[in-house]
Amino acid sequence: MEINKIAVLTSGGDAQGMNTTINILVRIAALRKLEIFGVMNGYKGLYNNEFVELNTEMVANISSIGGTILKTARFEDFMKKEVVEKSAENLRKMEIDVLIVIGGDGSYRGAVSLVREGINVIAIPGTIDNDLRYTNKCLGFDTAVNNACSYIENVKQTMSSLNRGVVFEVMGRYCGDIALYSAVSTACDIIAIPEKPITKEELIDRVKYCVENKNHSPTVVIAEKMFDIREIAEELTKETGVDFKYSIVGYIQRGGKPSVADKALAMQFAVRTIELIEDGIFNRAIGIRDDKVFDIEIEKALSAEYNFNYDLLNLFYMLNYKK
Ligand code: ATP
Repeated sequence: MEINKIAVLTSGGDAQGMNTTINILVRIAALRKLEIFGVMNGYKGLYNNEFVELNTEMVANISSIGGTILKTARFEDFMKKEVVEKSAENLRKMEIDVLIVIGGDGSYRGAVSLVREGINVIAIPGTIDNDLRYTNKCLGFDTAVNNACSYIENVKQTMSSLNRGVVFEVMGRYCGDIALYSAVSTACDIIAIPEKPITKEELIDRVKYCVENKNHSPTVVIAEKMFDIREIAEELTKETGVDFKYSIVGYIQRGGKPSVADKALAMQFAVRTIELIEDGIFNRAIGIRDDKVFDIEIEKALSAEYNFNYDLLNLFYMLNYKK
């Protein structure tokens, strides 16, 4: 099959490195004489025919910018068959041979729906939560953790000077990666993540242990939605006699320029994407494991074996909790 026109969209939450990926895709497409279109606003724009032709000039200065120049949207209607059918028809009318989707697991489900309508799709993992378990890393995760770490370190310094404890909430509703990596990197004391949930009583018990044995004001990192951190901070103040504050790390995790690691990842993912397209191999998701880029069927990527760094979690436990 001869490939002449490709398109790319970004979907779900924005992730640092999406723009870098777009930059590389457009530059390689130019070298290979492929026409490349951006679809604005994710699947919503695909349904509404929001295509824009991209060229190297348009993407020249986007590589180091967070967010996504193609914008993104949450568009629940894409779960309806007729909406996917019309979107596939839009791609056919535009004579797009392959669609590249950059996003998280929801976006991958949308990609599978398009494959079922006969569209050639390549999926690239872009989600700060890092919750696509077939790959070690998703675009945006490294930058988000680094952002969370610098926020936590700054707040920790002031809390420690005042002998206060602090409870942080970080992003990652169904995935504790941001919580784990940021807690390890900033030497926090207690963690609460969905992969190894603890009860409120256990959390309080661990904080008490820290107060009694470590001789410093404890720092707690909680993955989004595990607990109401305001209530937890109040209860910890009551139960431990240490004054506890709470802090939601929030959108700062999504903002800012991509880290070098995320940019390098973007480059590797984009190169493999174009290689697959040139080889006529479609409906694949790109990933990286043990520093090697690979690709698997998109549907299989969604049901891949769980890949959580329990070794790092155990190390954290060893450093922080009694047996
Ligand atoms: P993030 O991890 O950053 O939240 P995501 O890709 O998982 O990214 P979602 O909001 O879950 O973000 O999904 C993005 C979009 O993908 C949805 O708004 C919807 O358009 C589409 N989508 C999600 N789930 C499905 C599904 N089951 N079938 C078809 N399309 C879907």
